[in-house]
Amino acid sequence: MQRIVVVGNGIAGLTAADELRAQGFDGELTIVGQEVHAPYSRPALSKSALHEEGDVTAHLLPEPEHGAREILGVRVVGLDITHNVLTLDNGEELTFDGLIIASGIRPRKIREDLDCEMTFRNFEDALRLRESLKSIPSVVVIGAGVLGMEIASNCVAAGSDVTVVSRRIPMLAFMGDYLAEIFSSAARAQGVHFVGPAAVDVRAQGDQTEVFLEDGTVLTADLVITTIGDQPNTEWLVESGLLTNGELEVDSRGRLRPHIVAAGDVAAIATVHGNQRVPLWTSAIEQAKVAARTLLLGDDADELNFQHYFWTDQFGLSLKACGDFPVTGEPSYVEGIPGVEPALLRWENADGTGTAVSINYRIPIPKLRALSRQAPAL
Ligand SMILES: Cc1cc2nc3c(=O)[nH]c(=O)nc-3n(C[C@H](O)[C@H](O)[C@H](O)COP(=O)(O)OP(=O)(O)OC[C@H]3O[C@@H](n4cnc5c(N)ncnc54)[C@H](O)[C@@H]3O)c2cc1C
Repeated sequence: MQRIVVVGNGIAGLTAADELRAQGFDGELTIVGQEVHAPYSRPALSKSALHEEGDVTAHLLPEPEHGAREILGVRVVGLDITHNVLTLDNGEELTFDGLIIASGIRPRKIREDLDCEMTFRNFEDALRLRESLKSIPSVVVIGAGVLGMEIASNCVAAGSDVTVVSRRIPMLAFMGDYLAEIFSSAARAQGVHFVGPAAVDVRAQGDQTEVFLEDGTVLTADLVITTIGDQPNTEWLVESGLLTNGELEVDSRGRLRPHIVAAGDVAAIATVHGNQRVPLWTSAIEQAKVAARTLLLGDDADELNFQHYFWTDQFGLSLKACGDFPVTGEPSYVEGIPGVEPALLRWENADGTGTAVSINYRIPIPKLRALSRQAPAL
């Protein structure tokens, strides 16, 4: 293989390019990315970057060393897998022997056409929110997943009056009831209002924005941020024949064709909950390593086999988790008082694996991982 193109310059694209070089690939390597920036840490955007003084630097990653040709600020708009040609929105065409698809996801909105309904995915969104937080009295966050709750936490800390629109307990689907309850109690204690049912429409009203709920309630706020999920950046693949029901379903090595792989948020991988996208930082990194090796080594590359690691910081609670999420019911092991003082928890999952969680508890990740694998002797 002499010529490899990576589409997307997020963490999956960067990791894949690095891994190709680490595996000895010394051919022509090109990365095409829609964003003009070098890859950066998205997780930092909704955490430390929002309350940094001066220039924002929390998101910066070390300079890439893969030496690829980088075509930035340019979008891929088409793929022809018969002739192995990519078409870019600047009219350029790129041919390849190997292709890595790492084009990520983008947020969904209630009204695609409205600027007053903000979403939060990239560096520019973080700068805009950081600036707004200096002077915004009221904020409505639509959707109470992890991102929505991290944003709500930052808004409360900046002194805004915050309402979160959510049909269910915040983060229930992602974390499970036990942990979701701890986090929503902390949010309520800091003054966050939770309202349901779902928001169905958003409209600009002078300098403010109105949010219409299913039951006819209308909320008004200076800033409305929607965090109701995402959609994969796959429009450029619609004609390619690589999509299954709109998703990019890869095999256990990230493969779609022998010379085409996908990794990161855009890829639907096999999980214990079925084939699905796993939009998490460490998942993107591990998938990208496997996909890059597969492109070079085929079936000699190891299959994807990693344990999820996740973290969040919000409302004074810093959670780290190793193992499958969500966790069901009460933990089988608890040290400390979760939500009140530093705590370490462990769940036995139905499939025999374990999930270990620390909340405001200082523990190295390898130790947390070890706890997820082996219950402590009582
Ligand atoms: C605010 C925020 C906080 C997060 N916090 C956490 C956290 O605490 N823990 C955690 O585990 N995960 C977190 N995540 C998720 C994590 O950041 C993602 O899983 C990870 O960044 C995905 O990387 P990726 O490279 O697959 O996708 P992306 O980072 O989305 O990169 C894809 C890139 O491809 C570009 N692109 C798209 N279409 C095209 C095209 N047609 N042509 C060229 N380029 C294209 C996009 O512009 C983008 O730059 C967070 C995400 C966000 C947004």
